[in-house]
This record gives sequence, structure tokens and C-alpha cells, in this order.
Amino acid sequence: MTDVRNPATGAVFAEVPETAPGEVDAAVARAAAAYERWRWVAPGERARLLRRFAALVDAHVEELAQLEVRNSGHTVGNARWEAGNVRDVLDYYAGAPERLTGRQIPVPGGLDVTVHEPLGVVGVIVPWNFPMPIAAWGFAPALAAGNTVVLKPAELTPLTALRLAELGREAGLPDGVFTVLPGEGAVVGERLVNHPAVRKICFTGSTEVGTRIMAGCAAQVKRVTLELGGKSANVVFADADLAKAAATAPYAVFDNAGQDCCARSRILVQRSVHDRFLELLEPAVRAFRVEDPARETAEMGPLISAAQRDRVAGYVDAAAVAFTGARPDGPGFWYAPTVLLAGSPADRHWREEIFGPVVSVLPFDDEADAIRLANDTDYGLSGSIWTRDVGRALRVARAVESGNLSVNSHSSVRYWTPFGGMKRSGLGRELGPDALHAFTDVKNVFIATEE
Ligand code: NAD
Repeated sequence: MTDVRNPATGAVFAEVPETAPGEVDAAVARAAAAYERWRWVAPGERARLLRRFAALVDAHVEELAQLEVRNSGHTVGNARWEAGNVRDVLDYYAGAPERLTGRQIPVPGGLDVTVHEPLGVVGVIVPWNFPMPIAAWGFAPALAAGNTVVLKPAELTPLTALRLAELGREAGLPDGVFTVLPGEGAVVGERLVNHPAVRKICFTGSTEVGTRIMAGCAAQVKRVTLELGGKSANVVFADADLAKAAATAPYAVFDNAGQDCCARSRILVQRSVHDRFLELLEPAVRAFRVEDPARETAEMGPLISAAQRDRVAGYVDAAAVAFTGARPDGPGFWYAPTVLLAGSPADRHWREEIFGPVVSVLPFDDEADAIRLANDTDYGLSGSIWTRDVGRALRVARAVESGNLSVNSHSSVRYWTPFGGMKRSGLGRELGPDALHAFTDVKNVFIATEE
């Protein structure tokens, strides 16, 4: 059994059984058997089951949100959005089975058509920072395309995934179509990666583990999607709406206590407005409401664990702190929102993903300098550009090596648009039609028409 803790108090409130390697094999065998039937289920029927699943999630948004508040320390407002996102993603991909069409290609002597074939059993491996949405971004398109899914939640946050599996069963998904196996990455995760009957791994997590998973998949030429770490830039030019850029910057990095792969954790500010920007940022950071995540007013809760809090502190202890926000006293894994001044782009806190409520600020001189500094990272997941100059916005958006960019905004995720990383932030895209196609292989069929 694994203890499940409430990060806001540090107290254990649930226990979850560990999955043994033999149970992984049994679950994969059930998923493989279920695939032989699921892939032939009429598209309209698959769509109907996914819509029913979405409707059940909708009816349980509050329950799922409250469970996530306790298990992950997410603010109740965020947790409701996350459960609603699962519903929306399921609804969106419920529209897919009947539209997953191939092409007809003109060839001499016959008819040539392409078919999008499902892959088989898909392993979805999920991190602890957004347990619900990231699970759905994997399982919903995989199921819609005709695959069956074995999902492994993170050790620290298994509860909402287990509840979603129950709702899937209640919706009528046949046995073996969608299975959730809680347990250790080194046991359950590795077994899914190495199991020959698992045809694809859809992984979200750290670049370090993702690299190992890619190597494991390579041995069997297994398909793999990787959504990995980030160190995204928030580039503020002198001509920007500085008040808006500064007022929103805390949300772009302290939301979910900074445990967000899209966190804009490097703020690049044009030198002429650097000090003014910090003056505007300080009150916004001090006003950021860090409190019991179950309160409706909370803007940030605790970190996921004591280990994560100590890891974050390790970066801050060695750095120049500009200012910090407030945090509650008492038990729980709290850390105050913290703004650091980067002395140079070589600073460790500037280069490494901290995954906590910490943002580093560095000045730049001109557009070319901003692009160079924004790209001076191994990562390339998201980022923001603040300017009133449309030409500059487009030039910089094209030049920054990042899978997702926003201009005069911090938003990154819409379930119908592609999401994913460049460089060491990942491989492949989630959400939108791209994700659906990534759960299929294209088959070409030629039918001779000549006698
Ligand atoms: P992690 O890499 O430690 O773990 C992720 C998952 O992989 C967990 O379920 C874990 O049990 C499993 N795992 C660990 N070792 C494994 C192995 N050897 N084989 C198979 N599975 C294994 O990541 P984390 O600490 O849970 O999450 C934080 C990281 O996730 C951050 O780096 C963050 O940026 C990244 N992330 C990326 C995205 C994205 O979309 N790009 C989204 C969220 C989080």
C-alpha cells in the first residue's frame, strides 16, 4: 500500500494498493484482448460511449475537483477547471471516430486508399502536476482512435485517475478498454515501456525520465509521444502594456505553485523598463493569495511534497532574491512566491526547471538579444511575448524555438489546438487533431480494378 498525503497539511488521508509486475502483464493481456473487439466497434457507438463518459465526468466535476484539492493541493478553482477540461477533451474526441477518414489517391489500374489504423494497447504515463487533464489528453484521443489504454498515474497523485476509470466503466466502456494501474514508475511504468504488446507510450513528465523511456521504446521501435520539461521565457519589450504584463506575470508562473511545465519562469525585460517592470510586479506578487487551496479565494496552494519544497528552496538559497510574496504558517508543503534577479544567463536558477513558485528576471538590450536569450535553453515548450508592435510580435514568435507561444497573453492550452515541445521539451503533439493521428498508423491499400 502507498500512503496518499494532503499537501496542505502533510497528513496521510488515503492508501492505494501498489500494482505488482505480474498484474501489469495481466492488465496488458486484458487490454490486448479488449482491443480486438474495441477497434471494430462501430464509430458511432464508440462516440456514444465517449460522450456518456464525458457526461458522467460533468456530473462529477465537483467531486473530482474536491478529490484533487486534497490529493494535489490544487486550488479549488483550478481543480474545477481541470475536471471540466477532462469532460471537454472527452467530448471533443467523441466527435472523432466518425471523422477519422483517409484519402483516395489517383493511381493507374485500381483504387488506392489510406486507412488510419489504431495501434493496439497504449500505455499512458502521467506526472503529478496536472493529474486529470494530462491523463485525458492521452486516453481520450487514444480511445477515440480505437486503441485500448493502460494508464499509470504518478505515485503521489493516483486518486482522480482511479475515479475516472470507475466513471469510464459506468459509462459502459467494455472491460479492458481503459485500465488505471497505480504504482511505481520503475515497476509499472518500465513494464509498460518494455512490454511487447504495448504499441505506444504516451509519456508526460521530466526530461530525464522521458529520455530513458525513449531509449526503452527504441528497442522495440515502439511509438512514443513525450511531453517533457520547460523553462519558458516571458519576453517584455519596452513598448508593451507594462501594467498588464506585470499584473499577469504572477499567474504565468505561480499558478499551480509553479508546478507547471508551461510556467513562464524566465522573465526577460528590455533594459530601459526593467526597474519600472519590477516596481509593477512587486505589488502583484505580494498580493498573490497563497492559502488553504479549498478556499474559494485561493490563488495558490502548497507544493506537492516536502521533497519538492526542499528542492525549490535549494535554488533560492543560492540566489539574489528581489522580493517574495506571503505564505501560510503551519504544517503542509508551503513555499512563498519568489522573484529572483538573474546575474547572468549562466545562473543555475535561470537555466534549470525549478518546478516551484520561483521566477527569475534578466534584462535584455534589443530584439536580437531577446531572441538569443529566449533560445539559450535546452527546452522549448511555451512562452509569451509582450509588445504593441505587430511586426515584432510575429518576428519574435517565429524566431523563438518553442512549441507554444502567446502574444500579449499567457494562455497555452486549448483542447482543440496542438500542444507540445521543441528541443528537449518533447516529441509529438497532444490535443487537437494532431494527437488523434498520433494514435494511429496510416495503412495504404491498393485494389486492382483491371480484369
Ligand atoms: P517524472 O518524470 O518523475 O514522472 C512522470 C511519470 O513517470 C510518473 O508517473 C512516474 O511514476 C513515471 N516514471 C518514473 N520513472 C519511470 C521509468 N523509469 N519508467 C517509466 N515510468 C517512469 O515527472 P514528475 O516529477 O511526475 O512531473 C514533473 C515533470 O513533468 C516536470 O519536468 C514537468 O515539466 C513535466 N511535465 C511536462 C508537461 C508537458 O506537457 N510538457 C506537462 C506536465 C509536466
